[in-house]
Amino acid sequence: MSNLKLSTGAIQRNDPGFEAAALSTLFNRIHPGRLPEVIVQPRTVAEVTAAIQRAQKSGLKVSVCSGGHSWSANHLREGSLLIDMSLFNTFAVDRSAMKATAGPGVGGSALLAELCKQGLFFPAGHCKGVCIGGYLLQGGFAWNGRKLGLACESVLGLDIVTADGRLVHASETENADLYWAARGAGGGFFGVVVQFHLRVYPRPRYCGMASLVFGLRHFEEVFNWAYEVGPQVPDAVEFQLLTSRRTLTVCGPGIEAVAPVFADTKAELEAATAFMRDSPIRKKAFFRMPYVPMSMNWMYRFAMTHYPSDHHWGVDNMWTRAHIDDLMPFLKGMTEELPPAPAHWLWLNWQPPVRRSNMAFSVEDKIYLALYGSWKSPADTARYQFWARDWMKKTAHLASGIQLADEGLHQRPARFLTDPNLQKMDAVRNERDPAGVFHEWHSRG
Ligand SMILES: Cc1cc2nc3c(=O)[nH]c(=O)nc-3n(C[C@H](O)[C@H](O)[C@H](O)COP(=O)(O)OP(=O)(O)OC[C@H]3O[C@@H](n4cnc5c(N)ncnc54)[C@H](O)[C@@H]3O)c2cc1C
Repeated sequence: MSNLKLSTGAIQRNDPGFEAAALSTLFNRIHPGRLPEVIVQPRTVAEVTAAIQRAQKSGLKVSVCSGGHSWSANHLREGSLLIDMSLFNTFAVDRSAMKATAGPGVGGSALLAELCKQGLFFPAGHCKGVCIGGYLLQGGFAWNGRKLGLACESVLGLDIVTADGRLVHASETENADLYWAARGAGGGFFGVVVQFHLRVYPRPRYCGMASLVFGLRHFEEVFNWAYEVGPQVPDAVEFQLLTSRRTLTVCGPGIEAVAPVFADTKAELEAATAFMRDSPIRKKAFFRMPYVPMSMNWMYRFAMTHYPSDHHWGVDNMWTRAHIDDLMPFLKGMTEELPPAPAHWLWLNWQPPVRRSNMAFSVEDKIYLALYGSWKSPADTARYQFWARDWMKKTAHLASGIQLADEGLHQRPARFLTDPNLQKMDAVRNERDPAGVFHEWHSRG
């Protein structure tokens, strides 16, 4: 969550401590080279409305943040008034209705921890600190996301302050255009979400993980296996391969094949983990962990080892359905040039369903590749900053688009909505924000 705590509720660019305050809203330690003119930290809906009016009177555009986990620092823009929603951080669970309401500044992991205590579940993201504000607007790739869908498909409604300062409710039946846009617009949304209305689920009976870890000499065999087995992997499993120069936090370079599993019955669990148990290359792994039940807290601890909060990050990604033979030279190349850990790149076996909800989110594919360049010292910025972007540029002919979760649109335009959905998004924006009060994405594909 954002570290910012403004005692006065607002701070201006020429105030002492302004730059530090702006950067403290950001997970990524890279200085984006862009700063807003004013930061406002509202506690009430009336203060959100007042902030939008203040921006308009001052000739500033509005940018918004909740948890500040945008890798591209989407909310830090020149000539803008930043509305920091991190204090909208409370939630309430209605167990009998299987619903919850939550502010955008709520951490997904905090919400999930409380739900798990009550035997419930929500498809929250994989790291602590990511807030539901930005996460749900861009789609939301979740624990158990292959089974429960994108997290934004569990959004039943939103309370939004629009460009004209009005508080409206958006759902399938009210302000349906905003409801459509808010599920996929990500950092290009043209309103301030002050509350989400969510559907919650029973906690899966079996939550845990299986893992196989391989040295890089098995690179081709591992990725050929993942490619072949991918379409058959049950949707109770988020099968992924994580390549880095440091496996298991203490071992050398390699590939961690990880299978988080969420199953409701013993039979489902057995079926879900069979592809790891019966893998033809299992014996080549130097570390083999059969399915081990884990609390969500342990799942988060595992994920967080790869995403320390005191680092600089250069991130980019692509969806692909390319053949493994076409991908392989690029996978090898990006691995050869991989910066030291915790930098890594991820192969996620996504295999999306044929149909999704009617919403803006519209670009996904069989395999997701995400490159997380990372370094601690500012002295290494020039060396590692563009590793992810440059490899995604070289591989762009094999991509069907990108995911907004890991966007690097400030350094490389890419396709994140289908053409009809981008056109529809523009039409809704023109209707809802005709004067262009809100910032858009950094760029479009
Ligand atoms: C360590 C790490 C792990 C991650 N893991 C996952 C993951 O497992 N799954 C996944 O899907 N994504 C993941 N992400 C990506 C993350 O979901 C997105 O960056 C998301 O935008 C973060 O939400 P936020 O509120 O924390 O970020 P912010 O930077 O605050 O928000 C991003 C953008 O969303 C918009 N926005 C935010 N809040 C509001 C609001 N209240 N009203 C209107 N617009 C708003 C703004 O345009 C803002 O610039 C991860 C990111 C990091 C850094």
